[in-house]
Amino acid sequence: MARIFCIANQKGGVGKTTTCVNLAAALQEAGQRTLLVDLDPQGNATMGSGVDKRELALSVYHLLVGLATLDQVRTPSPSGGFDVLPANRELAGAEVELVALEQREKRLKQALKDYDADYDFVLIDCPPSLSMLTLNGLCAAHGVIIPMQCEYYALEGLSDLVNTIKKVHANLNRDLKIIGLLRVMFDARMTLQQQVSAQLEDHFGDKVFRAIVPRNVRLAEAPSHGMPGVVFDRNAKGAQAYMAFAAEMIERMKTL
Ligand code: ADP
Ligand code: MG
Repeated sequence: MARIFCIANQKGGVGKTTTCVNLAAALQEAGQRTLLVDLDPQGNATMGSGVDKRELALSVYHLLVGLATLDQVRTPSPSGGFDVLPANRELAGAEVELVALEQREKRLKQALKDYDADYDFVLIDCPPSLSMLTLNGLCAAHGVIIPMQCEYYALEGLSDLVNTIKKVHANLNRDLKIIGLLRVMFDARMTLQQQVSAQLEDHFGDKVFRAIVPRNVRLAEAPSHGMPGVVFDRNAKGAQAYMAFAAEMIERMKTL
């Protein structure tokens, strides 16, 4: 059975896409059959996987509105080896079109159902909003992975997200739980980051992943080469951290 996870945080620029692409590549490399679902009309996860969003005949948009099957839309990441349900600007239109459809927040869940046996992990890259697209991600998932920077305001934003997840759990998806918080773009030289990191551990205990992703320029450079950071420069500190995170996820799956 595929384990389905949303990478979510309603803030932009917090490392969702970087986490999704690198975790997908690291899991695939570790022998886990992985599907990355790009639910952000910006298509950054698509490009970062080495799939050109400007040349898509079919995208996750067509899947959500019922114009294509998953098998028609999925395409292999040439650099990462995992499968991708790619996205581009067209997906922004789905937001409006979905409103008129039946079971509008369960379209992705339905679409994934028949392909459950094809994957060990499905990772959904959510847009930076609590929109109908994010809702589709949350309804399809077993759990949420929350990447966050250890900044003062990060904790404030977190309570909004936690409340949304609670509501979805209560009303739409009984399976949904928070798998964990991943500290990203971490700079150990900054006292504030150390403090927020310690606070997170105090409040959330073992919901905080052990792996910590440092701020690392090689991770930021990789997308312009159409590669996950873990493929672009596997020895870089950032890549090593994502590989450790993948190992931690595989380990956690045994206890879920
Ligand atoms: P989101 O998907 O939440 O908007 P991204 O993953 O696109 O965030 O990251 C925002 C920016 O920060 C991107 O330019 C990305 O390359 C960069 N970035 C992400 N993680 C790191 C990191 N650990 N070190 C350095 N840069 C990073
Ligand atoms: Mg993103």
